Amino acid sequence: MSAALLELSHITQSFSKGERELKVLDNVSLSLAEGEVVGLLGKSGSGKSTLLRIIAGLIKPSSGSAVFNGSAVSQESLGISMVFQSFALFPWLTVLQNVELGLEALGVPDKEMRKRALEAIDLIGLDGYESAYPRELSGGMKQRVGFARALVVNPELLLMDEPFSALDVLTAETLKTDFLDLWIEKKIPLKSVLLVTHNIEEAVLMSDRILIFAANPGRIAAEIKIDLSHPRDRQSSAFTAMVEHIYTIMTSGMQRKDFSAARSAELTMHDKLPRVSPNQLAGLMEELAGSPYNGRADIPALDAALGIGTEDVLHLVEALRILKFAEVAEGDIHLSTHGQAFVDADTQKRKQIFAEHLLYNIPLAAYVYRVLQSRPGNHAPRVRFVTQLEDKMAEEDATEALAAVTSWGRYAELFAYDDNTENYSLENPSA
Ligand code: ADP
Ligand code: MG
Repeated sequence: MSAALLELSHITQSFSKGERELKVLDNVSLSLAEGEVVGLLGKSGSGKSTLLRIIAGLIKPSSGSAVFNGSAVSQESLGISMVFQSFALFPWLTVLQNVELGLEALGVPDKEMRKRALEAIDLIGLDGYESAYPRELSGGMKQRVGFARALVVNPELLLMDEPFSALDVLTAETLKTDFLDLWIEKKIPLKSVLLVTHNIEEAVLMSDRILIFAANPGRIAAEIKIDLSHPRDRQSSAFTAMVEHIYTIMTSGMQRKDFSAARSAELTMHDKLPRVSPNQLAGLMEELAGSPYNGRADIPALDAALGIGTEDVLHLVEALRILKFAEVAEGDIHLSTHGQAFVDADTQKRKQIFAEHLLYNIPLAAYVYRVLQSRPGNHAPRVRFVTQLEDKMAEEDATEALAAVTSWGRYAELFAYDDNTENYSLENPSA
């Protein structure tokens, strides 16, 4: 590794949301050296795609600089290519034409364009599909076209924005290993790769270094070197230990900061809430209480067993934690005595326990309940709460938090909500 290929210094990005500014990236600095794959790992909404768009010169950051090969990046910067999650192919063009498109902007003569496109197609395993149209291709093949189009210009830096997320597991596996082969065996003149993903295993499989992104605003929360030689064996203890280690960081430090930004342990009314359904929460508690977990589970193992996606699992874990139905430490979750009591209770008793936990532990739920109690007729329009929350929260976060509290409050029969009139009311005003 030698000089930095890409240098980001103090990048900040804000978007205006109505009258307010939403800060999406806060003081992000990073450099990419020649010869490395860097993974950028973070939950959705943390600003990863925005950062890639800045690097590609598609957005000018609010402040800070992005320098590639010694000059500020721009839309015209040569040497940077991008692969997207959605394949972004032109349906009316063949595979060959879609790949050639990558070269058209460079003013390459027709004959050479064809030659290079065919080489790229060959390299990425699309041989024989040159004249096929996108609709005739499987998702995996479409994404191969996406890779061919990005690689045909011989970029020095490849930006990948969750390129495997839309593919089924097996297809994604094959494409990951095929790409790693090209990279490791230096069959492509690429100098550096920045891979955005929310999949921890994928990041550990492919990266030399992982940057963990925290949200609201997006920033680098941790950096981890992955010193495992290729090809990496997912079953090896070093590999699984690394995955565990990253889970621990993401479930303890960063998650907490994410959802209860200001104070350390106590939630406030304006903190983000994970939007998960009461049924899923009940299901997870039952799962945890039963065999083989008997009240305690390793979160990565649980994630693998549930198969509903890491992000959803982390949200469920976080919800159980803030509701005090579970504790989370060092990558393990264990059911609290309250959680166990919930599992053991019948339906009516469960609702009662849930209502108590909402009132004691979730300030926004307690607040909605108090407002309803104090208002004549015991009802209030949704907009009343939204407006108040948006004073201190991004619009999306306010909507999400209120949606979470609404579904939990309805389940617990703490209050009712009418979707048509968008009104809250007390379930049982005499109580
Ligand atoms: P990620 O890729 O990590 O999921 P994004 O970078 O797509 O995150 O988005 C981060 C935040 O920035 C989101 O809240 C999104 O709504 C907001 N955002 C992204 N682009 C724009 C834009 N052009 N205008 C306003 N808000 C935007
Ligand atoms: Mg994204």
